[in-house]
Parts: sequence; C-alpha cells; structure tokens
Amino acid sequence: MTRRLLLLLPTASYRNDDFLAAGHALGVDIITAADYCHQLAPGWGLPPLLGLQFDHPQRAMETIVGALEAPPDAVLAVDDSGLELAAMLREKWQLPGNPVYAIALTRDKLAFRRLLAANGLNCPVFHSLPNSADPAELLPQLRLPVVVKARRLSASRGVIRADSAQEFLQAVQRVRRIQARADRDSAELGIVVESFIPGAEYALEGLLEDGRLQVLALFDKPDPLDGPYFEETLYVTPSRLPAETQDQIRDTVARACAVAGLTEGPVHAEMRVNEAGVWLLEVAARSIGGLCGRMLRHALGTSLEEIILRHALRLPPPSRSAGEAAGVMMIPIPCRGIYQGADNIDAALSVPGIVDIQITAMPGQIITPPPEGASYLGFIFSRGATPQQAEAALRHAHALLSFDIQPDIPVTPE
Ligand code: ADP
Ligand code: CA
Repeated sequence: MTRRLLLLLPTASYRNDDFLAAGHALGVDIITAADYCHQLAPGWGLPPLLGLQFDHPQRAMETIVGALEAPPDAVLAVDDSGLELAAMLREKWQLPGNPVYAIALTRDKLAFRRLLAANGLNCPVFHSLPNSADPAELLPQLRLPVVVKARRLSASRGVIRADSAQEFLQAVQRVRRIQARADRDSAELGIVVESFIPGAEYALEGLLEDGRLQVLALFDKPDPLDGPYFEETLYVTPSRLPAETQDQIRDTVARACAVAGLTEGPVHAEMRVNEAGVWLLEVAARSIGGLCGRMLRHALGTSLEEIILRHALRLPPPSRSAGEAAGVMMIPIPCRGIYQGADNIDAALSVPGIVDIQITAMPGQIITPPPEGASYLGFIFSRGATPQQAEAALRHAHALLSFDIQPDIPVTPE
C-alpha cells in the first residue's frame, strides 16, 4: 500500500524541493502543509492545510486534524519552524517520533543550557535576561567576552559577541529588537547571555533510531567564527580531527540527545572543541539547513532527504557507497543592500572540484547579513579526493564570483 506522508513545509524554506523530490522518488503519497499567510491563503483558493501558523501549533494541529480524513503514516517537518507542530501531530496520532517536550527544549537556547549544566555536560556560564531587566545590573556578574543571543532563532540571527561593557549594552538592545521582530513570543522569552567559548567549530549530522545515534557526517568549519557576528560559510567533510576527538564529539551529542529526550530522526548538532573538551552550541531535531544537505550526496552516496524519509516511514535504509570528501559554502552577504545579480558563475563552475552553484538571492531583494538577516546569497558545492581539495575548490570559486549589491539605507544599531 502506498504510504502517506504529511510534510510540513515553511514557505520560505530552502529545502522543500529536495524533500518533495525524495518523496516522489520513493513513490510516497505526499500531503503538503505550509505556512502561507493564513489570512491570504483562503482568498487565493488554497486549502486550509496551506494556511497554517506553525508558531501557533495548537491551532494548526486542529486545522490539520479536521482537514484529513485519516492520519498519515508519518509526519515530517523539513525545517525548524514546523518541528513542534510535527511532534504534536505525531503524539496525537500515536506515530513514533520525538516527544513534544524534547523539541521545545532543544529549540530553546536557555532551556538547552540548563539541560547541559544539570547533566554535567560542558556548558558556558549563562544568564537569562528578561525583557524587563536592566542589562547594566547584569554587568558586574559577567566575565567578558560574552555572547548575547535570542532564545530560539536560527542561522546566527540575533547572536552577537560583546567584548566590553558598552558593546554588551548595545548588543542587548539590538538582539532584543531582532527577537521582537522575529518571534511572536519575544516578550515572554527574554534573551540569553553566555560566556564566549573559544575554539574551532564543527557540526555533526546524524540520525537517531530508537535512541541510537548514527553519525552521517562530521563537518569541519574551517573559517574562524570569532564574531562579533557569526555568519556561517564553509562546511567540509570528512573532518580532519583525530579519530579520538571525533569519538568524543559523537559521544557528547549522543548524551545530549539522550538527556534531552530525542530518540528518532535527524539530528543536527554544532559544537566547539578546545583543550577542555567538546562544548555543544546546539542540538536540533532536524537536518542541516539551507541547501547544504546537497553536498552529502557525494559524501554519503545517497541523498540525505531519502535517508530521513525512509526512516520516518520505517522503510529499509538506502544503500550507501563509500564517500568522498565534499564541501559547501554558504555564500555570505557582504553588506546590507538590494541584490542586483551575480557575475562569473561560469568561471566559478569550471573550477576543478566544483559540482554546482546555486544563487538563491533574487534580483531586487533586500539582503541583510546576520545578526539581522538569516539567509545567504547562495551555495557553492564541491567534492574532492581530500577535504583539503574540497575546501580549496570552494575558496577558489568564491573568489571568482562577483555580486552586484546596491547600497541601501543602513540599519543603525541605536
Ligand atoms: P543559531 O541557532 O542561530 O545558529 P547558535 O547558538 O548556534 O545560534 O549560535 C550561532 C553561532 O554563534 C555559533 O555557530 C557560534 O559560531 C557562535 N556562538 C554562539 N554561542 C557562542 C558561545 N557561547 N561562544 C562562542 N561562540 C558562540
Ligand atoms: Ca547554530
């Protein structure tokens, strides 16, 4: 019998096409649910499942349950914003998957810090700063540098490093403003302040099956991420870390998943490593963001989306071939402005090792780097015999590209 999969697709996600394609290739019957504006969608003639508010999961769940005649075989959120709704639906229909509380916990940077500290995992000194609190009163307790961050945004949006008292006060104002615009619950959430963790950064892509963590890929992030803003650029796999450190990373992520209550499905974790060990930045019950997952086709010999869909539908895992090195660059936005176009794409594509270049910014679009923005100009994908080659190809291709960005009125951090 054809299996039915309910796919929660945020309208703005980079990933919808890849999940839909993987579902079609598997012959799955896909029901799509999306967050097109709930007020406009009915006027456009769209069915109720396409006018959901993912950030009002209770209401969205009622709409879905009312609209479907029978429960599907699986529910999957392709991105962060649908995770809670997906978990609530699975609980409602008694489908296997992560519990709602584990999703809420791992999406909340403050709750996650409390969890690490309570379980003896490495955790920076952290403080909750409610919106009503005067940040100057927290200052005497801080050991600078610190990182000021929004509670549950992603892609480094609302994350700022502060090295001095003045930078700290400014960062608090700015992060509060970013969160107020981006999170419906910002008034109750407040923000997080934590000590800066030195060290190189890595990311782990994994799959949980019945509580066991399988590592699909470990990535080096070879560009330093020292702030004050933390725009991501390069991911390269396999990692060049010694095997022992890689094992430590895997064990730390597995422990964090266990104490958080995550047991099934994709896991994307980010961490820093220094002489004191592995420091988790976050563990999320989803796969890698943006179009980055595409790089794994070469490293895994199959698509990441197929692995995830098969697991959700309880189908046998796809066969995987021995991987080669692969890399992706999230092309950073050099400055805020109006994107006009890109040049020299053909030259960049002809660099040996470059597999694909996808420019995702649209001409005429206002583009903003972090901490206000949460998107990229596009993605460059590479492969190579070694991670060094995959990385060098990305740098070479990026240097050849040029972007036309018309300056816009700057956002002044008051
Ligand atoms: P997001 O969910 O937006 O990705 P993160 O908490 O993962 O937010 O932070 C984004 C980036 O900011 C991290 O990848 C890291 O480079 C940097 N960062 C965040 N917190 C710290 C910290 N305490 N110390 C050092 N760097 C940090
Ligand atoms: Ca992150």
